[in-house]
Amino acid sequence: MPRKRARGFEATALLERVKELTCLLRITDIAGKPGISIDEILAETIALLTPAWQYADIACARIVLDGQVHATRGFLDAPHAQRAGIVVQGVTRGFVEVAYLEERPELDEGPFLSEERNLLNAVAQQIGLVIERKEAEFLRGHLENQLRHADRLATIGLLAAGVAHELNEPLGNVLGFAQLAKKCPGLPDAARHDLEKIEAAALHAREIIKKLLMFARQKPPEKTLVNVNQVVQEALALLSARCATTGVEIVECVLDPTLPHIPADPAQINQVLVNLLVNALQAMPAGGTLRLQTETDGVHVRLWVEDSGTGMTPEVLQQVFVPFFTTKDVGQGTGLGLPVVHGIVTAHEGNIEIQSEVGVGTRVEVRLPVTPARAIEED
Ligand code: ADP
Ligand code: MG
Repeated sequence: MPRKRARGFEATALLERVKELTCLLRITDIAGKPGISIDEILAETIALLTPAWQYADIACARIVLDGQVHATRGFLDAPHAQRAGIVVQGVTRGFVEVAYLEERPELDEGPFLSEERNLLNAVAQQIGLVIERKEAEFLRGHLENQLRHADRLATIGLLAAGVAHELNEPLGNVLGFAQLAKKCPGLPDAARHDLEKIEAAALHAREIIKKLLMFARQKPPEKTLVNVNQVVQEALALLSARCATTGVEIVECVLDPTLPHIPADPAQINQVLVNLLVNALQAMPAGGTLRLQTETDGVHVRLWVEDSGTGMTPEVLQQVFVPFFTTKDVGQGTGLGLPVVHGIVTAHEGNIEIQSEVGVGTRVEVRLPVTPARAIEED
């Protein structure tokens, strides 16, 4: 009966439509899960695909994105396959494919229904949109982070400079008068001893202020041509006595003789080395080994400072560039060593990378450009 057939057809079409919408809805659900990655979205989407096809039990599916393949188990390059491209912002980045592992009678598109073609296109389009949104989200998060970091550093820089200037004068007085008082004739030993302590404490405070000012980077680097090898040797000479007393061995100091001289501020590069070396030594209170190395690839000068000390947990490592972050006792650390290093290296258009493992040690790599953009402009 024509009526009955028509109704049967309507019912099947409706059923197909429901399947299609359910599949799309689920993809939207998956993509909406907070914190889900693109990989996870694709892996979950792939599991939704085959049940929506007419011969679900012989269907397999895969999604290829940027060359990365997500596939149902047992996916084969079957001869009967349907494909739809994944386009993200006008660029084809991959495809979605459903294939039948066995022969089936010819329908609209090979063994597939035209509804299945529509669904596949809709799924591919949906994936394209989800990826676009996810990538935009990621980029925004990344930029926000960078901005927040730069902003915080700038604010702290201003604050630090202000505090440092304010403290400089009274501190100068403390130091000056302590030194004067020490010259008083007939001073009892105990008083002299106390004055020496005041003097030492004031000197220590002055060091902190110097670092604060350097951190605030009031002065741009005064660049001359610097031989980083020479700076390394000088910094090491300065600290060798301290190495000896703490039982630290300098195992390797491999300085590349072909290292080009780079436009840099020698005092600041020296500061970088001193800060890194002090950290390394402080991380090895019971002795250990220190490795120093320089190398060049013609574009950058690289410097490594490596210690076999305590190492850092990932939580500590994450915060080392945060001003005033320290795990050390008062008097041992100010939490400004690495922020200063970071400030100087950035001002030289270089970068810094730290690898660390608790109980194994720490390896710091500093890369400085041989011809920084700003130096070229100035020429
Ligand atoms: P400070 O040394 O004054 O604490 P830094 O900015 O130099 O400040 O370092 C911050 C923190 O990073 C230190 O307190 C320490 O926990 C960690 N750190 C830095 N360098 C090392 C290192 N070589 N080994 C282990 N921990 C380190
Ligand atoms: Mg330090």
